[in-house]
Amino acid sequence: MSPTDCLFCRIVAGEIPATVVRETGTTLAFRDIDPKAPVHVLVIPKEHYADVATLAEGDPRLAAEVLATAAAVAEEEGLLGDGFRLLFNTGAYGGQEVFHVHAHLLGGAPLGPMLAGSPG
Ligand code: 5GP
Ligand code: ZN
Repeated sequence: MSPTDCLFCRIVAGEIPATVVRETGTTLAFRDIDPKAPVHVLVIPKEHYADVATLAEGDPRLAAEVLATAAAVAEEEGLLGDGFRLLFNTGAYGGQEVFHVHAHLLGGAPLGPMLAGSPG
């Protein structure tokens, strides 16, 4: 996929609106359009990488910047006391739907078990 066809690259470019909660030179954090928790923010690198494995391999420093932005948003959203969940859905089994790497930052209420069902 070329970046111009990528939904999150288009958000970075300002072509699609998003509720941005934090921006750095290399990262962007914005609210998920269909929140699964009281706080549900997506944290992405501005540069296009398909998934967290590709990002970690290609630019580990940028991967660390995504984590740092997620931590800063968690602090700003008041999640550090009660805790939060940070996850990267990856590939088919991971249920990834948008192939521009994004961390889901979830919090604001007890989040329940990590997985909806058990294997098998
Ligand atoms: P994935 O399933 O790839 O891990 O997560 C993709 C996420 O992107 C979903 O939680 C979905 O609600 C969110 N999403 C999809 N389209 C848009 C959009 O246009 N704007 C925003 N802010 N979030 C979106
Ligand atoms: Zn992209």
